[in-house]
Amino acid sequence: MTDATIIGGPSLPQERKLVTAIPGPKSQELLARKNAAVASGVGVALPVFTVAAGGGVLVDVDGNSLIDLGSGIAVTGVGNSAPKVVEAVKAQVERFTHTCFTVTPYDGYVEVAEKLNELTPGDHDKRSALFNSGAEAVENAIKIARHFTKRNAVVVFDHAYHGRTNLTMGMTAKNMPYKDGFGPFAPEVYRAPASYPYRDGLTGAEAAAQAILQIEKQVGAANTAAVIIEPIQGEGGFIAPAEGFLPAIQEWATANGVVFILDEVQTGFARTGDMFAADHEGVVPDLVTTAKGIAGGMPLSAVTGRTDIMNSAHAGGLGGTYTGNPTAVAAALATIETYQEENLVERAREIGAIIEEFFTELAKSDDRIGDIRGRGAMQAIELVESGSKTPAAALTGAIAKYAGEQGVILLTCGTYGNVIRFLPPLSISDELLREGLQIVADALAAN
Ligand SMILES: *Cc1c(COP(=O)(O)O)cnc(C)c1O
Repeated sequence: MTDATIIGGPSLPQERKLVTAIPGPKSQELLARKNAAVASGVGVALPVFTVAAGGGVLVDVDGNSLIDLGSGIAVTGVGNSAPKVVEAVKAQVERFTHTCFTVTPYDGYVEVAEKLNELTPGDHDKRSALFNSGAEAVENAIKIARHFTKRNAVVVFDHAYHGRTNLTMGMTAKNMPYKDGFGPFAPEVYRAPASYPYRDGLTGAEAAAQAILQIEKQVGAANTAAVIIEPIQGEGGFIAPAEGFLPAIQEWATANGVVFILDEVQTGFARTGDMFAADHEGVVPDLVTTAKGIAGGMPLSAVTGRTDIMNSAHAGGLGGTYTGNPTAVAAALATIETYQEENLVERAREIGAIIEEFFTELAKSDDRIGDIRGRGAMQAIELVESGSKTPAAALTGAIAKYAGEQGVILLTCGTYGNVIRFLPPLSISDELLREGLQIVADALAAN
């Protein structure tokens, strides 16, 4: 039903253009069909049905061109339908589409593993295993850590998000919408306090001491297989821990034979202005999980880490029918090449500087912008009621709604639902980015 001649990618006109109200009549028609055919638990944030996307825009079925400040939740870092990714995927699907790597292997999977071993934090000997989704990577990292340590307990943190499968739901902090009514959850998952500088006022060392004390008193180091944390918490509110928090947790883990896992599913691949967020403080995890930005939009995820840990699981213990799908690995290789050739790490820093500067200026005259935080092209503003730190969730929802109606795709997050997050594709132009930010400023002025 959609026009098959429309081509996405960076050659799409890079403009915000509204030709109907949002959502337009064709999107509304499709939304009615969606509601009649798709389970309502599968919600949509902005019901504009996509026909093409690329650079910094997304074109809908009514012909509207929207500014993309979400990248499909931090996935299309290289941009939608990035040329090298399209080329690699086309070439691969014409050769073969599936064998199951654990039945008869292929070189693309091995090459992605080699790249991950090289690029992830630390220059020690590493191995990788590929999966389909972020949650699946997290589950496998836990499987591996438990097998290696012969211990059961897994420590997670306040505000954590690790996915929607049973184990990862239990590891995720926020009840609505992720967990409510979906239990019981897997046992042996324990939650420790995180570092949330804006709200706890603690230094990294203080917050780490508090977490470690709780782990030691409530779980016991000798029972703990793994500590897992996002280096900048994503869904929980784009919370960058205070300097020194991550190194202190890592040091404690290492001293106690606990596997230290960084969940870089959202922060990975140039997003934060480093190839991985852990690089910022020079933290080297035992295992790292990656997904979202890895393959330009194709479903792929990975666990990478110390060879002794990764190799502790027996042959046949790790895998899955589709894991490391040949098309997804071809896309990943082209995606990683694009990050490097286009120096997108540097581009993420430039994008971050623009966002930070914009809101620093705006916050001077609007004290509802309680905090501006993040790194690189992973930035957020935390909205509060004027003159307080009371979360302004309704305002946050109103801002996202206003932006959508004006043709800007904007995501929210946060335990208290009061954080607007900026995750533009790294292929967005300065002009489009600034135009999108101005719409957010307009939305704040109108609310
Ligand atoms: C999105 C996310 C996940 C889950 O990834 P899926 O691909 O949705 O399963 C896990 N961890 C973090 C930090 C994430 O942001």
